[in-house]
Amino acid sequence: MKKQYLLVFVFAGLLAIFNSCQKSTEYKALIVTGQNNHKWEASSPILKQLLEQTGLFTADIVKTPPKGGDMNTFNPDFTKYNVVVIDYNGDSWSDKTKTAFVEYVNNGGGVVLYHAANNSFPEWKAFNLMAGLGGWGDRSEKDGPYVYYKKDSMIIDTTAGRGGSHARRHEFEVKMRNAEHPVTKGLPARWIHGNDELYSQLRGPGKNMEILATAYADTTGGGTGRDEPILMTISYGRGRIFHTALGHVDEDGGPAMECVGFIVTFQRGAEWAASGKVTQKIPNDFPNAGGASLRTDFKELTLEDDLAKIAMYDITKSTKYFTDLQSRIRAEGKTPEALQKFEKLMIKVLENKAATDDAKRLILRELSWMGSDLSVPVIKELAKNDQLKDVAEFTLERLQPAK
Ligand code: ZN
Repeated sequence: MKKQYLLVFVFAGLLAIFNSCQKSTEYKALIVTGQNNHKWEASSPILKQLLEQTGLFTADIVKTPPKGGDMNTFNPDFTKYNVVVIDYNGDSWSDKTKTAFVEYVNNGGGVVLYHAANNSFPEWKAFNLMAGLGGWGDRSEKDGPYVYYKKDSMIIDTTAGRGGSHARRHEFEVKMRNAEHPVTKGLPARWIHGNDELYSQLRGPGKNMEILATAYADTTGGGTGRDEPILMTISYGRGRIFHTALGHVDEDGGPAMECVGFIVTFQRGAEWAASGKVTQKIPNDFPNAGGASLRTDFKELTLEDDLAKIAMYDITKSTKYFTDLQSRIRAEGKTPEALQKFEKLMIKVLENKAATDDAKRLILRELSWMGSDLSVPVIKELAKNDQLKDVAEFTLERLQPAK
């Protein structure tokens, strides 16, 4: 009898350990949507995918009634979540829901305001304090000053005028203003953002707000000639708010949402809003000042993806995948063992009968400096191919210097 009890306890203990190992995500996110002057049906599922692909979040989407509907039916339980992402610009919420949201933030709940969310709720004072700055919705000097940068100084401008504008969509450079914040730490000082609306002339209370990044709204494109705030953090009560003005959505996402700069700052901002820290690594494909970097399927390329693309390589097309492979080798191939991990996968491209000669030529050149004896047999085979003979022999000479 006693033995049976013991077995039950052991089993229960093992089950508890198993369950705790099963816990794969740390934070719960709620995406609020259902009305917007943007295609929320496209953007909200993308935001959910971006949150969940970090491995840190599970995300629910909650929809308000459509425009003109009974907003009393919209009563989500914010307290079940670590972060609430607002992809909403529409009818005012009920007083009860507004109060619940303010209480959630006051008690330390995280918030991410995404793009046109800063157009919403012009009349709701607490929301505007959380947003720091907003635009449109008849916002004017009554709602607070314009805030922007001129050269390296922040300007608080009380001039009368409308809040919110943007020039024609274009790619633009994002400039870090605080590189020490957890959201921005380690990101390049300047990077090119995918084709987007550059929100300008935002105005609002701007209290307890920190501007993390700005973008220059070039007058030649119809912009304001100011460095406009585009990434901000705000504190409200015990809550943390991350505000991104980036990410205009097209039917299928489009270049503003596909931009790795948008994706990564959104993911990092959400983690910070949920927890006060950021544990995510900065990916290899983050853009720099040289050009934008887009993920057409919203996923970071893996090493295997790179090699599959390289195998089909056509020299007249983008060299992105090969450049990505090279940067991975530079970043991670610090020891002979680490280099061999890459080499083994590169040998598979050389062995792949369907891979193009251009692809094999690139791989052979790369192996000439980082390959080992492992590569010699397959390279000897390729040296029999007239198209690859020269580069194969060159690589063999480098790998096996004449004794
Ligand atoms: Zn937009």
